Amino acid sequence: MEREVRVRFAPSPTGPLHIGGVRTALYNYLLARKLGGKMLLRIEDTDQNRFVPGAEDYIRQSLEWCGIELDESPWNGGPHAPYRQSERKPMYMQYAQQLIDSGYAYYAFDTPEELDAMRARLTAAKVPNPQYNSITRAQMRNSLTLPAEEVKQLLESGEQYVIRLKVPRKEEVRFNDLIRGWVVVHSSSIDDKVLMKSDGMPTYHLANIVDDHLMEITHVIRGEEWLPSAPLHVLLYRYLGWESTMPQFAHLPLLLKPDGTGKLSKRDGDRLGFPVFPLEWHGKDAETGEPTVSSGYRESGYLPDAFINFLAFLGWNPGSQQELFTMPELIEAFSIERVSKSPARFDQNKVRWYNEQYLRAKPDSELAQYLSEALQTQGLEVPADKAEQIAALVKERATFPADLAKEAQLFFVRPTSYDEQVISKKWNAQVAGALAEFARELPAATDASPDAIKALLTQVLERQGIKIGQVLQALRVAVTGAAAGPDLMHIMSILGAQETAERIDAAIQQLPA
Ligand code: GLU
Repeated sequence: MEREVRVRFAPSPTGPLHIGGVRTALYNYLLARKLGGKMLLRIEDTDQNRFVPGAEDYIRQSLEWCGIELDESPWNGGPHAPYRQSERKPMYMQYAQQLIDSGYAYYAFDTPEELDAMRARLTAAKVPNPQYNSITRAQMRNSLTLPAEEVKQLLESGEQYVIRLKVPRKEEVRFNDLIRGWVVVHSSSIDDKVLMKSDGMPTYHLANIVDDHLMEITHVIRGEEWLPSAPLHVLLYRYLGWESTMPQFAHLPLLLKPDGTGKLSKRDGDRLGFPVFPLEWHGKDAETGEPTVSSGYRESGYLPDAFINFLAFLGWNPGSQQELFTMPELIEAFSIERVSKSPARFDQNKVRWYNEQYLRAKPDSELAQYLSEALQTQGLEVPADKAEQIAALVKERATFPADLAKEAQLFFVRPTSYDEQVISKKWNAQVAGALAEFARELPAATDASPDAIKALLTQVLERQGIKIGQVLQALRVAVTGAAAGPDLMHIMSILGAQETAERIDAAIQQLPA
């Protein structure tokens, strides 16, 4: 019988979730929904030293904002609860014990000083990568080298110990990664990883495998940084007797900085000029302990749909030209086969482009809502129909909702200065004269639609024998102060005939013809 697809996102609450983590969660979610399976979230908090308060809440809020839904998690429970490893602590020891009993793991009593001395010895002997492994373990204090009686005594006397995996010296470990194909690693390059720490907590490796097995995970989709751990995980599945139901692995490509010089990391924070976190994060400086704030996509004005669409394309493509995908469309189009092996470069312009597309696709009434709220904070009350007209006109120039209000300022504030370049080139007595006449006739126009205003302007200019091309820029500057902006006829129409005429008159008075 086909197993139900079950995937998990397994973050450690060691700080804010970085966009690479959100992408991992997204790909897991897309696969689960595509294949009609379940999406789990498990909090991997076995490393108490790295625990950061607030991080778990941050992860939860980030996924909610992105629209990544969880079927089982610490917050909405599920058949395999608890979903926090710290709350599952009593479950792991039996599996470490099973490995010891079957000869695949052993007790190690070495003190930190003894471990340091071993590393120093190996470094002095020019061993490139000093490790506790199939060779060096023979010189250390563990249950493989000490007499059984002594081991028993040490355990009974409460001596501190860890449990290590006994990695074979000469064996090829292989597995088929869904993205990378066959991965083959020689066991001599794997060290005897600690499975149980002296405080009775499992390490990431043991807890991760035990939980993936107990939670019946079918696919492990995670970042490339976990690829070196995968052979060890394969050995653990084998030694625990779980190889036949071992999940399939898929290691996602790295996310690189925009210039491709290296991995995009949490530490990049705002240094590169864009957020690396979905939501704003209030943290502490690692050295000084001073409060720090890192910007988030949400607070910077990104729309969750745009952010998700962008992230989906960082390492995956649909194999077609289509770039805009809603979440349901992503689910429909997604497949692991189309995830790339090669690293994906973060592109700041692309994420802005996505935001523009999603912002402009929103109904004008919704944009008018953003606009009205922003204008209200400036003390400006705008009737709904006018707000909608303005929003429709300025949205083509907006990347973020906040840009709408910035672009709309020209409707509420008369120009205080006039673009000098345009004035020096285009403003002269003839132009000023023609505009004065246009301004005189404008208030009488019964219809202030863009077309009617244009018709009146054309009429006036014809009478004066001036081409429209000679005055348009000067007129724009007279009305708005700026050399560029949204369609001028629409601007004048929204301002209304009276206000437009007054602005033109004011410009004529201030500018020497
Ligand atoms: N807890 C690991 C992390 O923080 C999970 C890695 C995995 O998915 O196996 O990324």
